[in-house]
Amino acid sequence: MIVECFHCRQYVDAQEAGSYWRNYNGLGPARRYTLLRCPTCQEPILVSQTNIGNIADGDIWDTPVIVFPESDIRVNPIAPREIRTAFEEACTCYRAQAYTASAIMCRKTLEGICIVHGINERNLQSAIKKMKEQSLIDDRLYEWSDVLRIVGNEAVHDVGVVLSQPDAKDTIEFTNAILDYLFSYRDRFEQFKRRRSSK
Ligand SMILES: [Zn+2]
Repeated sequence: MIVECFHCRQYVDAQEAGSYWRNYNGLGPARRYTLLRCPTCQEPILVSQTNIGNIADGDIWDTPVIVFPESDIRVNPIAPREIRTAFEEACTCYRAQAYTASAIMCRKTLEGICIVHGINERNLQSAIKKMKEQSLIDDRLYEWSDVLRIVGNEAVHDVGVVLSQPDAKDTIEFTNAILDYLFSYRDRFEQFKRRRSSK
């Protein structure tokens, strides 16, 4: 079965190692779970398929959905919608191995982060600097953001630049970490402090 191996970051022809059928039970259609083995890294992959067939045509199994392992990239659900959309597109590009496009969308995500924090500078470099001046990000996150900006700039402006898979993965993960910091931890910590001081 051809599936994407999240470890190998590529489509592989995985071998079946076992299966389980959940038969039609009056509530939902039959479902087939197949345990696969990646031929390259030997890691397990569990996929689920729904029976979309009928009596006339017999069993027809739809496109397999990977149940395990969970995708290593997830989009912070708390981030504002436009930022999630930009970052989801970065992840889609990455999964499709369009690494340079993925870095460009990470840069766009970063621009969106500045804008939702009320920072409208003429360029991203000064916007990130302003984020630091306003203590929205610390020195470390400033450094990360600035490197992401530079990677994104190269991806946009230099037609000869082709981003490697490890660099694209890091770009995705650092962007995700900044989203987590700003929209999950920072906000949650402020609430935590408020709760503590009201006691
Ligand atoms: Zn693999």
